[in-house]
Amino acid sequence: MSLEDTELPRTEDEWRVRLTPEEFRVLREAGTERPFTGEYVDTKTPGVYHCRACGLELFSSDTKFDSHCGWPSFDDAIPGRVREIEDRTLGMVRTEIRCARCDSHLGHVFRGEGFTDKDTRHCVNSVSIRLEPR
Ligand SMILES: [Zn+2]
Repeated sequence: MSLEDTELPRTEDEWRVRLTPEEFRVLREAGTERPFTGEYVDTKTPGVYHCRACGLELFSSDTKFDSHCGWPSFDDAIPGRVREIEDRTLGMVRTEIRCARCDSHLGHVFRGEGFTDKDTRHCVNSVSIRLEPR
């Protein structure tokens, strides 16, 4: 499923009817699923992860790695598909990541942790994405 831009919901009420309550809470209200509960935490299946709200391709399984943090982690995004925003909630400065097309919340990005050569961890809620197996 991939929506045309003209089909994208314009209001939060329109999103609410398209998404499950948990998807709405995470994607549209910048919620966070509990660690180690998401369906893609340990997934190794090759494929492409799409935005669950609008269907845009966001992450390749080639960039997924085991971070043991409890959420799916990717050391790179498909170029231009993820937007970064400074997030000062919870008394710290983090970088929120959102879908570049529909502005839905995906998770946060962290740098300088040394997990992979790219030194970047896109920490993504499973409920924000959907795997299309290759
Ligand atoms: Zn999207």
